[in-house]
Amino acid sequence: MRRCIPCVGLVVFLGCFTFVIVPDYDAPSSREKPQPSPDAIPTIVVDPGHGGNDEGTKFYHVAEKEMTLDVALRLEKTLLNFNFPVVLTRRDDHYVALADRVATANKIDNAVFISIHFNQSNSATVGGAETFFADQKLSPAEDWTWVGFFSHSDSTLDNGETLAGFIQAALVMRMDATNRGIHSKALYVVRHTRCPAVLVEAGFISNPLENQLLRDESYRQRIADSIAEGVMNYIRTTHPAIPPSKLASAQKNEPKP
Ligand SMILES: [Zn+2]
Repeated sequence: MRRCIPCVGLVVFLGCFTFVIVPDYDAPSSREKPQPSPDAIPTIVVDPGHGGNDEGTKFYHVAEKEMTLDVALRLEKTLLNFNFPVVLTRRDDHYVALADRVATANKIDNAVFISIHFNQSNSATVGGAETFFADQKLSPAEDWTWVGFFSHSDSTLDNGETLAGFIQAALVMRMDATNRGIHSKALYVVRHTRCPAVLVEAGFISNPLENQLLRDESYRQRIADSIAEGVMNYIRTTHPAIPPSKLASAQKNEPKP
């Protein structure tokens, strides 16, 4: 009987901790991880929306999943040419769960995430480009913190708004697209990624004119080049410690206006 007393004490002791240790859903864990060197070039994670039995939107025989993959592969080529490391969440026509797309990005310490999509509307006249980011990031459940001691909201965290602005500006300039602006929205892939993340809706498949343009590969190349230009402008602004020589080939190969 006497032996049980320390056990009871231990249970009570551990029981107390269940009240103070809870998953911190609001604070990404950048604090616990070593920060990347300021002159390290981030890996660009390119996420072609949909795939496999998830076609996305489809009008006039143009399926969103095919357009997103085509633009993503073009974007990869351009970014590699710019000296960026690039990872794609899919390279062919198969289904990838949203959580797996996010996991690909969250495995990389120094990443920038770009999800590519095309839009639809009930009205055929609606067109243009828009870019989303999430002003509130949600960290995965495995991140734990001591409530009341270390929980924090890191206002310096880059949520992707700046990246969204640069990509949207490049799209509007180069594509002569209707500017639908940038918006904060709790979309899964931008909210659950820890790194700066955006979701680009690069045009309306439901708009007959934009649908026709999307069939032209030079138009899709221009979309990819616009996004790449937005990424480059963003990196130059937010990562001034990266020596220009590291991105020197980019300066030579930037798409001409
Ligand atoms: Zn989509």
